[in-house]
Amino acid sequence: MTPIQLELAHGAHNYAPLPVMVSHGEGAWVWDDEGHRYLDFLAGYSALNFGHRHPALVEAARRQLERITLTSRAFHHDLLGPFCAELAALAGKEMVLPMNTGAEAVETALKAARRWGYEVKGVPRDQATVIVMEGNFHGRTISIVSFSDDETARSGYGPYTPGFRTVPYGDVAALADAVDDSTVAVLLEPVQGEAGVILPPEGYLTDVRHLCDARGLLMIADEIQSGLGRTGRTFACDHEGVTPDVYVLGKALGGGIVPLSAVVADRDVLGVFTPGSHGSTFGGNPLAVAVGREVVRLLATGEPQCLAAGHEAALRSGLAALVGHGVEAVRVRGSWAGVDLEPALGSGRQLCEALASRGVLAKDTHGSSIRVSPPLVISDADLAWGLEQLAASVDALLQGRVSPGPPPPDFP
Ligand SMILES: *Cc1c(COP(=O)(O)O)cnc(C)c1O
Repeated sequence: MTPIQLELAHGAHNYAPLPVMVSHGEGAWVWDDEGHRYLDFLAGYSALNFGHRHPALVEAARRQLERITLTSRAFHHDLLGPFCAELAALAGKEMVLPMNTGAEAVETALKAARRWGYEVKGVPRDQATVIVMEGNFHGRTISIVSFSDDETARSGYGPYTPGFRTVPYGDVAALADAVDDSTVAVLLEPVQGEAGVILPPEGYLTDVRHLCDARGLLMIADEIQSGLGRTGRTFACDHEGVTPDVYVLGKALGGGIVPLSAVVADRDVLGVFTPGSHGSTFGGNPLAVAVGREVVRLLATGEPQCLAAGHEAALRSGLAALVGHGVEAVRVRGSWAGVDLEPALGSGRQLCEALASRGVLAKDTHGSSIRVSPPLVISDADLAWGLEQLAASVDALLQGRVSPGPPPPDFP
């Protein structure tokens, strides 16, 4: 059987991948096992901000493989302290709690907020509520899908975790109305990635910051996808000069090599954790942290952020030309774009299939929208080429030259 047949036979079908089999990657490009190359316009949902196998990151991992890879947190290791100090400095905060996946870091931030609510704010025990946004994506654990409004992600997993209240994204008046004495925190994405790169209205993050200050709430920014350079700044919150109380980081923090996530906040928040009250076998392991330190070092130079900022104009002009010609709307921030195809033309999936046939890999988000998030190390020429392929793919859908085509085996 081929690897894909084995995957279909023995792997759970919780994804519907494009029928492209990646076996090698370098920078902004990946190759399949027959030697065809594809430009990566997804970058692992921003986990590959620094591209495939960035030499400095690979070298950091290689060096650490020769030293020690896992200690557990039962003992100290020599990289954890420096990593925490350096990441905290990058974020302008005091403390770091390392975990592995994004969802774990979100759960950690929610635990911190609840505990902070009881111990610092004085909310009656087990009464805390957290306000979340419509259209959110924060991961896949039961508590997180409990407050998702994406039925595909949520359905069938009840009973759901209580303690969350949902308000429309971008509406500070609705947010203010939802706050009561039980509210401990507001959890939001400063740009909603999975929802389709949705940018909040100008001034929204500032208004949320003021509301949180006025009502004594923690502002928790899930920057797992938006942070670490993607938008042209270190954090998407930087675009409004807003500092949340809590940053939740993941994806690119592991340099595309290892899972590494973190909650970053001041001592008054992360200080609520005491030995045994939270933990993770792999969180903060030496291998992950060695890569994470190199990621922080790269970001501290400001270069990845500059690269992302430099892509914005090319994305804007390349995509603006499509609006009214098969594309309904585009949203761009830094090296990140949401593209809404006219629904009559086809689904985001069909557009991604057309793109893949032209050598560009991208991923649909919802319905007829796709996301463009290339590795920040992509060259200007490659970015321009990828955008040409996108225009050609939209045009092919417009001309009706792309038939829906057979779906990949065994997927609806
Ligand atoms: C990807 C993502 C997560 C979940 O991260 P995992 O590592 O997949 O658990 C959470 N929040 C946002 C904004 C994300 O984009």
